[in-house]
Amino acid sequence: MHKGIITVENFISGTMVRGQRYLDSHDPSTGMIWARVPDSGKEEMDSAVAAALKAFPGWSHKSAHARAQHVLKVADLLESRLEEFAVAESRDQGKPVWLARTMDIPRAVLNLRHFAHTIPHQLNTSSVSPEAGTLNYTVREPLGVAGLISPWNLPLYLLTFKLAPAIMCGNTVVAKPSEMTSVTAYMFCKLLDEAGFPPGVVNMVFGVGPMAGEALVTHPDVRLISFTGSTAIGLHIAQAAAPTLKKLSLEMGGKNAAIVFDDCDLQACIRTLIRASFINQGQVCLCTSRIFVQRCLYPMFLEEFVKATRNLKVGPPANPDVFMGALNSLPHLEKVRRYVRFAIEDGGVVLCGDGLDPMPIPAENKNGYFMRPTVITGLKDETRCMQDEIFGPVTCVSQFETEDEVVHRANCTKYGLCASVWTSDLGVAHRVSQRLRVGTVWTNCWLVRDLDMPFGGAKKSGVGREGTHDSMEFFTEPKTICTKIT
Ligand code: NAD
Repeated sequence: MHKGIITVENFISGTMVRGQRYLDSHDPSTGMIWARVPDSGKEEMDSAVAAALKAFPGWSHKSAHARAQHVLKVADLLESRLEEFAVAESRDQGKPVWLARTMDIPRAVLNLRHFAHTIPHQLNTSSVSPEAGTLNYTVREPLGVAGLISPWNLPLYLLTFKLAPAIMCGNTVVAKPSEMTSVTAYMFCKLLDEAGFPPGVVNMVFGVGPMAGEALVTHPDVRLISFTGSTAIGLHIAQAAAPTLKKLSLEMGGKNAAIVFDDCDLQACIRTLIRASFINQGQVCLCTSRIFVQRCLYPMFLEEFVKATRNLKVGPPANPDVFMGALNSLPHLEKVRRYVRFAIEDGGVVLCGDGLDPMPIPAENKNGYFMRPTVITGLKDETRCMQDEIFGPVTCVSQFETEDEVVHRANCTKYGLCASVWTSDLGVAHRVSQRLRVGTVWTNCWLVRDLDMPFGGAKKSGVGREGTHDSMEFFTEPKTICTKIT
């Protein structure tokens, strides 16, 4: 063990198990190694799946209310350690501590509480058919061992968004968090232990996708995979899981549009689109990366949007006044910067940000993965920056004339995760929202989520709008029982 460096351990059958091999995990704000993460493979995954299988009969036979007591206890423990988790999430991922404190960790607590409170009331339904003389009822049964694979951008938030419904429905779980951000998942395992979870109900195996992830996806005893990550890996998982006929939920990438009509509330729109484009360094799957502005408003929008972007402070994540911290890794920073070069090659104009504006960073952070928020204009819809998911602080602004034109242009990518529409005309808001081929449309707002509503993407952003990774439908199989009573 290196001094001051956290050594992550796998969590199998309620026990912390040291890895056989280790990967280095870097603090994005300094580039220094801050944690060592087990580089697990098939052997560790086999043990974890065996533990989950063993725990399944006991856990699935508990009442949902009894399961909820465990989940609520973990939620309370997590809430009581909010600051500790927020600091760790920031060091693992690069985001400002204030963001982890106000968004990531509170949302993880909410995920746990929400599903603990709602699922006990959703699992069973019944009806009587007087004509047929039958009593009909449906019981929703857990499937068995659920495999959960999560990305690095909202580490604990997205892990608990899968984990809470999976276990509340009576499944047992083997989770494989991102190898880039494993520390808060490891800390969470300690809370599970403290909350008295039966061994094997939740198991956590750390490592890279092609080894640990692949071993989970192809394991014959794993009944379902809930995956959140890139479209490329999602497509690969769909193929790798096919021979074992697993139930799949794939939540993948996006290329989300904001459509700004002339009659919108410009100040509210700009305020929100700045957040939508650059929060978490632009690394939220729901971030806006294409902004279409109606012709009359376009010059004023552009001037004010660029001014507001230039005012954003980038710097060490612990500073309370920075809006953006560091991007998650050096290869990712290089990828995002490459897209700024592609934009220039494709005829775009960089109005502010990367390469243009100064970025004063303290000496101790000089090897961190920082980048200024960048606004680009002048790109055709078919160019790389307008089609590919960049997943960083880069947003492209262009103008449009008519409703038909902008709906067509917003829809012309392979992705369909979300969009936002900005207008004061209710008719336009509803009409345009209905024509957008995406999973979620926000009108005059962004990222406002009610956990009772289904979440997910259309087209290559996700499979299915019902039964996605946050839903009781996905984590259970319905069984209908029809009994003759007369
Ligand atoms: P990624 O696809 O590279 O990795 C996601 C997870 O899959 C990681 O845990 C990784 O180790 C694992 N993985 C990689 N190869 C695998 C394999 N062969 N078998 C099994 N598992 C494998 O994605 P990322 O870079 O971690 O995250 C960024 C992506 O996630 C972006 O595309 C973003 O849009 C997407 N995302 C989507 C949503 C959503 O809800 N739609 C939410 C957050 C992030």
